[in-house]
Amino acid sequence: MAGSKHRMGIFGGTFDPIHIGHLVTAEAVRDEYGMDEVLFIPAAHPPHKQNQQVTPASHRFKMAVYATSSNPHFQVLSLELERPGLSYTIDTVYELFRRFGEGTEFYFITGADTIQEIHTWHRIEELLGICHFIAATRPGCTPDIDSIRESFGRLGMANIHRLSTPALEISSTDIRERVKRGYSIKYIVPEQVEAYIYKEGLYK
Ligand code: ATP
Ligand code: MG
Repeated sequence: MAGSKHRMGIFGGTFDPIHIGHLVTAEAVRDEYGMDEVLFIPAAHPPHKQNQQVTPASHRFKMAVYATSSNPHFQVLSLELERPGLSYTIDTVYELFRRFGEGTEFYFITGADTIQEIHTWHRIEELLGICHFIAATRPGCTPDIDSIRESFGRLGMANIHRLSTPALEISSTDIRERVKRGYSIKYIVPEQVEAYIYKEGLYK
């Protein structure tokens, strides 16, 4: 459309492993906002998971590639994996502007649990000034999105949005636990991700 900005979704996360809760959420956002693309960006060194053991990024990246391969609107980027140090979203968004152009409008997708924590993020005020946030609903998390928006003032009211997405009570934590205990993860992760987890012996 002439004059309208090119909208892109950014879905950052640990994706350890990626699951259908992530995929359904990303597709719902893409559809609702008329985005051409959603960029999945696995975090190499998540700042908020520093005292937690995280699977090597190369495995998490490959699983994200498998999981998104059937959707032409989904792309997985390794830019946080190539950057040393902690993975800060602000650095990622500036890098994306360099790659995709200043005319792009970025929407960072989060689940309802994550939107509650963005006030702790590195240079959040600056980040809110250059990209939008979408708070997707997530079962078990019922933050007061309006108060979160208000807490950031004018910027929060303008750039934080809420979206109801199909409720899937799924988490990577639960999937890792299931694999460890020998329970099925069929249909909770895409088939290729399930096969990769067993082939590589992850989460044992
Ligand atoms: P973990 O249990 O390891 O924290 P997770 O399932 O929360 O894993 P993350 O990689 O931490 O997955 O999440 C990346 C993003 O996806 C976060 O913004 C999170 O809120 C969102 N998300 C994850 N699962 C869901 C879900 N089932 N519905 C909606 N959003 C989700
Ligand atoms: Mg999480």
